[in-house]
Amino acid sequence: MAKSKTKDKRDELEKQNGQQGVEGHDKNEESKKEKKKVIIVESPAKAKTIERILGSDYQVISSKGHIRDLPQKQFGVDLDSLKLDFEIIPGKESVVEQIKKITSGKEVLLASDQDREGEAIAWHLSTILGVKGKNRITFTEITERAIKEAVKNPREIDMNKVNAQLARRVLDRIVGYMISPLLWRIIKDAKSAGRVQSAALKIICERERERLRFVPQKYFKVWIDIAGLKAYLTKIDGKKVKPTDINEEIAKDVVKNVKKVRLADIDIKEVKKNPPAPFITSTLQQDAASKLGFPVSKTMRIAQELYEGVDTKEGHIAFITYMRTDSTRVSDEAKEAAEVFILKNFGKEYLNESASGTSKKSSKTKGKIQDAHECIRPVDINITPEKAKELLDKDHHKLYELIWKRFIASQMSSAVYKQYSYDFESGRYVFEASIRERIFDGFEKVYTLDNEPSEEHKELKVNEEYSVEVKTAESQTTPPDRYTEASLVKTLEAEGIGRPSTYATIIQTLLDRGYVVKRRKTLVPTVLGFVVNHYLEQRFPDIVDKGFTAEMEKDLDEIENGKRDWKEVVRAFLKEFNKDMEKAKNEFFAIDFDTDIQCEDCSGNYKLKVGKFGLYLHCPHCKTNKALKPDIFGVIDGNKLYVVKEQNSNEQDELEQEGQEGTNKESNTQRKNSSSNYSKKRFYKKGQTSNSKTTKKKK
Ligand SMILES: [Zn+2]
Repeated sequence: MAKSKTKDKRDELEKQNGQQGVEGHDKNEESKKEKKKVIIVESPAKAKTIERILGSDYQVISSKGHIRDLPQKQFGVDLDSLKLDFEIIPGKESVVEQIKKITSGKEVLLASDQDREGEAIAWHLSTILGVKGKNRITFTEITERAIKEAVKNPREIDMNKVNAQLARRVLDRIVGYMISPLLWRIIKDAKSAGRVQSAALKIICERERERLRFVPQKYFKVWIDIAGLKAYLTKIDGKKVKPTDINEEIAKDVVKNVKKVRLADIDIKEVKKNPPAPFITSTLQQDAASKLGFPVSKTMRIAQELYEGVDTKEGHIAFITYMRTDSTRVSDEAKEAAEVFILKNFGKEYLNESASGTSKKSSKTKGKIQDAHECIRPVDINITPEKAKELLDKDHHKLYELIWKRFIASQMSSAVYKQYSYDFESGRYVFEASIRERIFDGFEKVYTLDNEPSEEHKELKVNEEYSVEVKTAESQTTPPDRYTEASLVKTLEAEGIGRPSTYATIIQTLLDRGYVVKRRKTLVPTVLGFVVNHYLEQRFPDIVDKGFTAEMEKDLDEIENGKRDWKEVVRAFLKEFNKDMEKAKNEFFAIDFDTDIQCEDCSGNYKLKVGKFGLYLHCPHCKTNKALKPDIFGVIDGNKLYVVKEQNSNEQDELEQEGQEGTNKESNTQRKNSSSNYSKKRFYKKGQTSNSKTTKKKK
């Protein structure tokens, strides 16, 4: 497409969006001029968007993620002084050279992402380039207003934030580097141990144990159908009964004795359904998983692209605010824009005066709190999903539509329902039917929270009698569901494990290491995952303890808030950790589990053991060995492996393609290392095992 045409379109778009006109400038013209200032961002897509906004005074370049880190081939942490050795990440040398060359003699602004990792990247850059003072800028959205505001207000690098990130890095390194070799000594095919994902692995394993121990309870559903209402037995002799209280005897008695019922009462209540808060990272991941079927890694990759800017037929456009956040705050400008949009398109009754995510107070303390976190929302509410459809591909559009709708819904009024409860009586028994009829849609005009459809109420007369035929069905209680990616994220968040930037990595790490697999959207621990978890539970109970891990996250938050010293936090951790390490190093640990798998050659059961090539089955009676097939799933409870027999075991396990896709296209989820051919190693970045990996190979 010709440049001038692109520019025209772009100008047109900007006018439509009500922005001030951006100076148009031609690329060739630009390169002739000497740029005065250099801005360094993390990703090339972001660089492009910002350069377009700021015009010819600025050159915007990208560090392509992290540039410096703990060394890959050594530990890099002096455990006494907590002095850290950093090295340029292999493969990034030329990027660093290039950055040095371009910035030489220029004023530099560091504009990596606004979270802790971004702050750490800015600090590494400032150290390498030897720049000091107020050179750090951040923004929650890549819009002209936000970027120009940011450039006017550079600040110093926030060392508390950097230290919180360093502490996380060091803790992860210590756990990965020190535990993994012990793990390999015992379980040859284990990959490695990581800090936060080990706690997540235990949560997944425990759910599987709960399922194994679960004893289903039989009960009877008893109901009647009247005028299109399904009324369930809810009371006997004036007492409420739970479904599980109803046994066969009761069911039979009801069938025998109830032939007619009388409508005793209709209770009508008005209930409000409040709009949801706008998205934060965890809720976006959950909603995209349940509504769009996106794995969390895919959601984060697409969200990042929408944040940084996407090439569209109308130019390079950034669509949403920063996607790693746990704040539901909405900027005053965004709130006002949403109000205007709602008034114009839906009417006054759809406007929520006390919209979630905002507070009247905040509009007074109007702020230059430019690095304060914000919710995930569209940067321009006027780019509606319909409009975006012409600009984005299918998946990007789907996610944008979800974000747009959730945000606009969060600023809309509540939905209002009338709830009708009908009580039918017959002797000792009461049957109850309940329906909800929507009388005002409110935010549900654009967004639904659940799939409960609105039902129409029935005009029935109190005291009227009906002839009925009682129906019953035998049923049984079901074990707790396995985690899905969405429900795991919800649990991790509720338990305080991980932070917005880590949920996707935690899940991906467990999948990549083969400790967990995805089956029909659920996360199932493998036998290897159970064995690794068993070892960690026995030897490093703190590491897999969710309470301990949550405390650690709080400690990191306190470092960020300037309340604690990072070295003190790491030392406190080391003190306890070293005790476990000593014990683990010196005490013999055998993998020798009973199993319920019958030997093929005799009537005995195999044992689960570990050898040179990993886990295998051994029959102690006839001394035969057998490979442990990867399609065997089980639960290790106590000292025994119980094979899990699936109800529909014939069904081919769909080892989720999408999950795999997440790994291959990973480049952005684990962002910070977007240099090419780093994809496999990138993984080890956060879980920190690449060094330990090397150690393993040497053996
Ligand atoms: Zn045998």
